[in-house]
Amino acid sequence: MTGMQPPIQAQDIRYAYGELEAVKGISFEVGPGEILGFLGPNGAGKSTTIKVLTGQLSPCSGRALILGRSVHEHSAEVQALIGVCFEEKNLYLNMSVKENLDFFARLFSLKHFDAMPLLRRVGLADRAKDRAKNLSKGMKQRLMMARALVNSPSVLFLDEPTDGLDPISSQAIRQVIREEAARGAAVLLTTHDMLEADALSQRVAFINEGRIVALDTPESLKLAHGKRSVKMRMHGTQGVREVVVALDEADAGDKLRAAVADEGLMTIHTEEATLEAIFIKLTGRRLEG
Ligand code: ATP
Repeated sequence: MTGMQPPIQAQDIRYAYGELEAVKGISFEVGPGEILGFLGPNGAGKSTTIKVLTGQLSPCSGRALILGRSVHEHSAEVQALIGVCFEEKNLYLNMSVKENLDFFARLFSLKHFDAMPLLRRVGLADRAKDRAKNLSKGMKQRLMMARALVNSPSVLFLDEPTDGLDPISSQAIRQVIREEAARGAAVLLTTHDMLEADALSQRVAFINEGRIVALDTPESLKLAHGKRSVKMRMHGTQGVREVVVALDEADAGDKLRAAVADEGLMTIHTEEATLEAIFIKLTGRRLEG
């Protein structure tokens, strides 16, 4: 029965810190096995939205539903269904790596929990007995990711899970995110890394000043807002020159054929619109700052 309900539903959520309206009516859904990238500049309202969806804040109006259950009316039930990886959520620093997971498993009353497979997945099996406080920043981040998965959640909220990690750790975390989605988990992923969002997400939502300004697949956004072009370099009697052909122009085919037939052709590059360029076009803002 619950399988019929979308894992995440945000229905016209509004939230204000006193006078400051941080979230001004946000609605979206995330389906099973879907990764939704949540993108926006600092202060756009991403964390506030996630806090409402995970029950840490009560919305001024609107509803947050997890698998059809109201987050604020069925809090305990909802907490058992979700996994959360937030930067400010602290680990138990004096416990060992393994104890952190075992402790969390007890909170969920899991009887046959084995931390080791989970620690292997995030590359921390050999640090199982170390105290959490002795881990590096990236290792702590990976431990928080593992902790978010202890209850095999149907819904994952990940706030900047790869922020500040080295490329190998980031890759490991991305692989885990993909595996969780393949298992059927719905994932809401905030990131400032546009390439990461593009690579991982089925759809991305652009958040700006408390509102969703675009929500679609990266491909559709690029088709709708981006310019595609081909850039070629050719050498001839006057040296090297660059020719750019916009693919949406009527005579693009003729220009491309002429260039390919040209003996001086050196390189051809397609220039795809990036999510970053589209974001700036839609909001007039860059992501950082
Ligand atoms: P970032 O990318 O920096 O994490 P964000 O999109 O997650 O940004 P929020 O943290 O949701 O943004 O903040 C939205 C707005 O609400 C900002 O103007 C911020 O200053 C404000 N805000 C956030 N938390 C509080 C708080 N506890 N008290 C008052 N204002 C807050």
